[in-house]
Amino acid sequence: MGFSVSRRGFLKAASAVTASAYAAKSIPAWATPPDKGLVAVTTPLATFSYSDVQLFDGPMKRQFEENHARFQNLDDDRLLKVFRQVAGLPAPGEDMGGWYDLAGFSLVRNDFHGFIAGHSFGQYLSGLARAYAVTGSEATRAKVNRLVKGYAETLDPKAEFFVDYRLPAYTYDKLSCGLIDAHEFVHDPMAMEVHGRLTRAILAYLPEKALSRQEQRSRAHKDTSYTWDEAYTLPENLFLAYQRSGDPFYRDLAKKYLEDDTYFNPLSEGNNVLPFEHAYSHVNAFSSAMQAYITLGSEKHLQAAKNGFEMLLTTQSFATGGWGPDEAFGEPERGQLGDSLALTHASFETPCGAYGHFKITRYLLRVTKEARYGDSMERVLYNTILGAWPIQADGTSFYYSDYATTGKKVWYGQKWPCCSGTFPQLAADYHISAYLRSADGVYVNLYAPSQVQWNDGTARYGLKQETKYPFDNKVQIEVSGSQPSEYTIYARIPAWAMPDPVVSVNGKRVPNVQPGTFAAIRRTWKDGDRVELEFPMPLRLEAVDDNHPNLVALMRGPLVLFAVTDSQPSFDRAELLRAKLAGNAAGDSIATSADGRPIAMRPFASINDESYSTYVKLQS
Ligand SMILES: [Zn+2]
Repeated sequence: MGFSVSRRGFLKAASAVTASAYAAKSIPAWATPPDKGLVAVTTPLATFSYSDVQLFDGPMKRQFEENHARFQNLDDDRLLKVFRQVAGLPAPGEDMGGWYDLAGFSLVRNDFHGFIAGHSFGQYLSGLARAYAVTGSEATRAKVNRLVKGYAETLDPKAEFFVDYRLPAYTYDKLSCGLIDAHEFVHDPMAMEVHGRLTRAILAYLPEKALSRQEQRSRAHKDTSYTWDEAYTLPENLFLAYQRSGDPFYRDLAKKYLEDDTYFNPLSEGNNVLPFEHAYSHVNAFSSAMQAYITLGSEKHLQAAKNGFEMLLTTQSFATGGWGPDEAFGEPERGQLGDSLALTHASFETPCGAYGHFKITRYLLRVTKEARYGDSMERVLYNTILGAWPIQADGTSFYYSDYATTGKKVWYGQKWPCCSGTFPQLAADYHISAYLRSADGVYVNLYAPSQVQWNDGTARYGLKQETKYPFDNKVQIEVSGSQPSEYTIYARIPAWAMPDPVVSVNGKRVPNVQPGTFAAIRRTWKDGDRVELEFPMPLRLEAVDDNHPNLVALMRGPLVLFAVTDSQPSFDRAELLRAKLAGNAAGDSIATSADGRPIAMRPFASINDESYSTYVKLQS
């Protein structure tokens, strides 16, 4: 369906927004005007600004606020200490501890500490910059400015911090992201200049191309532990740096680090090369392929990301949406997911995995407008990250979700791990994942208590959701507008909402609503119009893999219901599907096991320290 750019009102404003996808929407007026030539592809959907979306009371808002407060309250001196120590500058403040410190031996604790010094500094900076974009907090803006300046003071022309450093690409990628976000969202005056100095210096420490893990291992010196690094995740941020700066240096560098030989070329041809690769970083690399498509127009890389994501969903994923037990991909059709339940408690690297999953599903949604990417995003949201415990003041973090035969939530053993870096970034990204905009309207992608607002000239419009979804199957959307306007509201109808999802406008039912699509409702919307959604949520079972058809997860809507029990229970299939809502605050359903016991079946976010089984046995 086409539309006329000459039509007044919403369409005109929205088409201007999407005309240069990333650039026009995100670069503030004070910055250099975006050169439209910097992006080759205008994605059909664009993200809103972080500040256009407001979350209301609920678990998503709580996680965002917890993360914002945690890093707002973390002492600048502690965050900057390792960089100052290496630079020979005064380095006051306590050690961060855990992964973050310079590697060494602690006489006090009688153990080795430090893993990848300062590895997550850039992610904390990014999380703070995005939190500023959401809240406009002056204290957060000032902290980002102080951290960029403090980091800049430690950066010498040769970036000697990275001499004999274990994982230069890994840490540079996160610094790159943090500095880009400080520039984009906080308008930090130094950030891109620091980014440029760092990038030109880091080249001395990077390989000449993106090495696969196998290539990296074969090159590593046997006396060092430097056996892996992640140069293959660099292009996404390098393309973004190019879009921010217009400097072709970044674009050419991004192209150089695309992992084409061993990853994107075979993926684009439909060859499943995921097995044995490191899980999170290779899902994260899909976002580099998407930026190659957006920035260079490379159809090959779009195909690689689409195919790779499809292989992730069909051959590597648990019912929760999580993937990669022991942080690795397995060979398809060998029952590796079912086998893993007896072999490991490290089933899914949750904050990092969910962060990478949100990024790739958001990119694919922007390009394809297909509802299934939103379905996949919400599965990961409700069954993994919303059940993660908050990062503690001392850096103690939630890392792995445990899908073992009998599992438990646990804290990770070392403080300030990778997952403490991605969690604050992801919690801010909830805002830009809930709604997207097209030339002709607004896509409602996630159902959560929230609102999105936008301006069109002097007119102001908004959509406000009220819902207890997914604990309730109803969503109400109230339309606001300072004047009537014709546009389309696209509401995601999840594929599981069978057989008869209901969408109504002001009480009148919309015909032909199909599960697995965005329902398109075009009309002249007026202030106070109401859209109501009601999704059927029949219980259903999902086997862990084809080789283990009797190991199943019980699902209602997007939720996996975990059996709260000290040992994996057995059920009669029909009996399990008769589980009844308990009507309690935890959102439990009660099912009767084969030996006659009532078992509470509980959503992940409601589980605290009780033992549970993600998958239960069916009596065959
Ligand atoms: Zn992690």
